[in-house]
Amino acid sequence: MRNILLIYTGGTIGMIKDQRTGELRSFDFEYIYDHVPELERLHLKLKSISFEKPIDSSEINFENWKEIAEIIETNYDSYDGFVVLHGSDTMAFTASALSFMLQGLKKPVILTGSQLPIGTIRTDGKENLITAVEIAAACDENGVAIVQEVAVYFEYSLYRGNRCSKVSANQFEAFQSPNYPELAVAGVNIDYANDRLFRSPLTELRVQKTLSKQIGLVKLFPGIPMEFYSSLFNIENIKAIVLETYGAGNAPSDSKLQQLIELYIEKGGLVLNVTQCSSGAVKQGTYQTSSFFQKVGVISGRDLTTEAALTKLQYLFGLGISNEEVNVLLEQSLVGEMK
Ligand code: ASP
Repeated sequence: MRNILLIYTGGTIGMIKDQRTGELRSFDFEYIYDHVPELERLHLKLKSISFEKPIDSSEINFENWKEIAEIIETNYDSYDGFVVLHGSDTMAFTASALSFMLQGLKKPVILTGSQLPIGTIRTDGKENLITAVEIAAACDENGVAIVQEVAVYFEYSLYRGNRCSKVSANQFEAFQSPNYPELAVAGVNIDYANDRLFRSPLTELRVQKTLSKQIGLVKLFPGIPMEFYSSLFNIENIKAIVLETYGAGNAPSDSKLQQLIELYIEKGGLVLNVTQCSSGAVKQGTYQTSSFFQKVGVISGRDLTTEAALTKLQYLFGLGISNEEVNVLLEQSLVGEMK
């Protein structure tokens, strides 16, 4: 029998309506168990650990990510797979962060949640939870786990955790992974795309729990008043900035923006260029409006999602390595996060 650990962090899946205010608030894990008696009928050994105080995923922070990583690290040898129940709002950030924090995984870490609480009649939480548990338990005839990475399961699709984003606030199909196709699709059977599954070259689990807070994010928009952003481009406080640009990595040829970036990089800051588009990649130098980036040493984030770009920088700067080493690692796909 496969041994699965459920880690309950909170999110809509376990929320109930406050009768007085009508607001949804997190509830005990037992509440979920009560509503999914099917869990006991799966031929699995299922144990659960809950955050002491389950949270809406908008509250998620580095401490919570560390706690999830620690739970998995401590229980790694005792379980065949892990299911993390998490609110969908920041699930793609958590999945991306965990993919960098937990390297060398030989077991699945599947994040799931729901758009409707598990106690409601039309909930999507039941199917999401049951199938996520099945995926976490899936193995070949030798008992080797099929999925050996951090993934998100939502509405019949399994996505690589650091490739997907939340795209809908109200559809059950809340996630998409436009730059990397599904790892599996659940229909009558769960069909795994074996050639898309990540395999780490590491032989042991390597857990990184320190992340850097000194990472910023700027999304360009027409008319952006760069003068008000200048305090962000301060190397003392912010070591790296994810710049969300237009299309294939383009930006206005505004001299204030260019000066700010050039000076920041000269002082040792790092700028990572990702696209605002939900699919496709940055290709600096294709248009005149991105040649400047190439010239001053802005790094192309290629087809990284913003979630993966931010958490990759938080992870890399958390390692305490030199900027040169960070640069080298940014060019590489560490855990299948980019092409
Ligand atoms: N606000 C909720 C959360 O992210 C939404 C959800 O769970 O889907 O915790």
